[in-house]
Amino acid sequence: MKNLGDFNIDDYNEQSQMINKRREMVEKLKLHGILRSNSVYQAMLTIPRHWFVPKKMQKSAYQDSPLPIGNNQTISAPHMHAMMCEYLEIQPGMKILEIGTGSGYHTALLSFLVTERGKVYTIERIKNLTDRAESIFSRLNLTNIYIKVDDGTQGWLENSPFDRILVTAAGPNIPQVLIDQLSPSHGKICIPVGDRYGNQELIVGEKRGEKFYTRKKCYVRFVPLIGKFGFS
Ligand code: SAM
Repeated sequence: MKNLGDFNIDDYNEQSQMINKRREMVEKLKLHGILRSNSVYQAMLTIPRHWFVPKKMQKSAYQDSPLPIGNNQTISAPHMHAMMCEYLEIQPGMKILEIGTGSGYHTALLSFLVTERGKVYTIERIKNLTDRAESIFSRLNLTNIYIKVDDGTQGWLENSPFDRILVTAAGPNIPQVLIDQLSPSHGKICIPVGDRYGNQELIVGEKRGEKFYTRKKCYVRFVPLIGKFGFS
């Protein structure tokens, strides 16, 4: 360690290495046509993904793969975060519900995208994970995030309707309560739907007045959505 007063050159070098790796990651996602908008590009360039993974995984934080985060859960691969953000077409000022906070990385991206004018409500069923995520949000000074430990399949009625709902675990179908809590004015939901252990499709649904339209996007593999309107 070469300390110069409070300045630690090793920490500085590590941080700048991480910034370079992060830039490489977003450039690759852009090259492959996964990152399409400047807003999602900036969000993924800004939010330090390595803060959200366990210390021993930090060197792998900018590889395009899911990683374990403890409690038998995973942080999704960067291309999946990018795709879901792009499909949802998030704008500053929106009110978003996220189900499955996990590491909190995707929550932080959403927080960046809605800016200080918007709000992100996020629900996670495992308290260890919300505790960890909350401490990172405060380190990053993300003040527009509201988090609770609960069964997200039931939504968050008091704060509905939501402009966007993002579900980061796979359910057997799209819970009707979540559709009910979407804004009737082009409210959108992105959710993996299918079997408990794979064979799932990423669905984007849009509400227009009383009508609800869905589109299948691609095959995916997520951990199960466990709850009253998910898997038991
Ligand atoms: N976007 C997250 C990230 O960046 O780390 C991915 C999290 S992981 C793929 C899915 C999360 O959904 C897990 O942490 C799991 O505990 C949570 N989950 C599953 N069922 C849930 C439910 N009914 N309500 C809230 N969270 C749930």
